Amino acid sequence: MSGRAVIPQGSDIDPASVSIMPDGRVFQRTVHGLSEEQVGRIRAGYTCIKCYEDYIDAFPDECSVCKFPMREKQMEEFAKDFRGDIKFGPSTSLDEEREIMNEMRERAAYERALELGLTIPTPRIIVPRDA
Ligand SMILES: [Zn+2]
Repeated sequence: MSGRAVIPQGSDIDPASVSIMPDGRVFQRTVHGLSEEQVGRIRAGYTCIKCYEDYIDAFPDECSVCKFPMREKQMEEFAKDFRGDIKFGPSTSLDEEREIMNEMRERAAYERALELGLTIPTPRIIVPRDA
């Protein structure tokens, strides 16, 4: 461990990976905004992609903090999770996107509930704006 703190610039809900459970619950993943340098260190294996623990040597067998098998899985995980340069933080288009997602989620959950024969009020999903 290098003792360097790797702190994301911010985080947001990932609009690309939302799961709606059969009962209508919505599980969201969080995306983190990282600087170019931070992303570079993750890609080069110096920073754990799971918990952002920072290392002096690249690709340790496993992260000593969260036990993630960095040597084996980090690149795979990086390919899966890296979104490239996405619009981040408050922006009109992200807000719009979020609204569309919210609508889709609500509709899907509601339709699913109707299928199951449940009568429920339209689900409300609260997304904190400034987490
Ligand atoms: Zn870790």
